[in-house]
Amino acid sequence: MTPDLLAANERYAASFRTGDLPRAPARRIAVLTCMDARMDPAKFLGLSDGDANVLRNAGGRVHPDVIRSLVISYELLGTRDVLVVHHTDCGMLGLSNEDVRTRLRARGVDATHVDFLPFDDLDQSVRDDVDALRGSPLIAGDTRIAGLVYDVHSGRLRQVV
Ligand SMILES: [Zn+2]
Repeated sequence: MTPDLLAANERYAASFRTGDLPRAPARRIAVLTCMDARMDPAKFLGLSDGDANVLRNAGGRVHPDVIRSLVISYELLGTRDVLVVHHTDCGMLGLSNEDVRTRLRARGVDATHVDFLPFDDLDQSVRDDVDALRGSPLIAGDTRIAGLVYDVHSGRLRQVV
């Protein structure tokens, strides 16, 4: 960790004013999106501290740990809307499990049992993840689930589901 990060935090904490926010997200929203460094859900959705639970991983894909977090978000924190946001120029787009497994094999690791959840069709990956949530018995039936694509070149969202 570079010292400039700690210095930046010192400056942040010096003017920090939101230490009394409740744990439950004020907007009752959970966002599942990619870890891509070019996109910040707070910025592109106009969210403030305390507004939403944001879950991020490679691709913004649904997997068991995402379901786990969404159960906690709904049951304990009261969120009722889930936004699944994938994006253009995603590193997971056009990748294959074999690409990743080959890299790991080069350092002696067998990852044949791991699905890295790459995809070939952006809109379809959004539909698949929305369907995966809707099909999960752990996700409450009254959860509103939307699927969107974020364009990293324009900053614009497009609704798919
Ligand atoms: Zn991505």
